[in-house]
Amino acid sequence: MAFELPKLTYAYDALEPHIDARTMQIHHGKHHNGYTTNLNNAISGSDLDGQSIESILESLDMNNAVVRNNGGGFYNHRLFWSVMSPNGGGKPTGALSDAINTAFGSFEAFKDTFAKTAATRFGSGWAWLCVIPGGAVEVCSTANQDNPLMPDVGCKGFPILAIDVWEHAYYLNYQNRRPDYIQAFFNVVDWNTVSELYQKNM
Ligand code: MN
Repeated sequence: MAFELPKLTYAYDALEPHIDARTMQIHHGKHHNGYTTNLNNAISGSDLDGQSIESILESLDMNNAVVRNNGGGFYNHRLFWSVMSPNGGGKPTGALSDAINTAFGSFEAFKDTFAKTAATRFGSGWAWLCVIPGGAVEVCSTANQDNPLMPDVGCKGFPILAIDVWEHAYYLNYQNRRPDYIQAFFNVVDWNTVSELYQKNM
């Protein structure tokens, strides 16, 4: 049972002007498609074949570079597309809002922490908002295509919000201005989806 490149629920140009159509087209159609194909090729016929992606990542041998990079790439981008929407922006409500206020003091303080974490990831990687069993939230960052599900990456919880800070995620429109891309990202975050992930995984 091979993994499939997920279809986007919005058009490539739907997130403009915050994320441009050409970036979306290459990022989804080329980069994510490549991770998906390489993951399938790597696990085909092995004992990982048929497992869920979460199960593969949670019990990953971190020395298995092909599955680490491509399994991470498959999972991370799938989450990334799902937490963005042309109707996004604003702020969370309800239990997630309460958890963010408890952890960071305010939504604005959360945004500052998340943005700083994403901006200071050296080289390529991701920043995350994770929920820890019991309902607390935390922000963390991982390198390359690592993610919080993998063993010993320095993130404790289950990822519910992700931003890709590889240059391929923003360079066409923002060049070296990663902080501007991060601020623009907040305009497309789908807090309804993030809240659902919070409720399901707390
Ligand atoms: Mn990417």
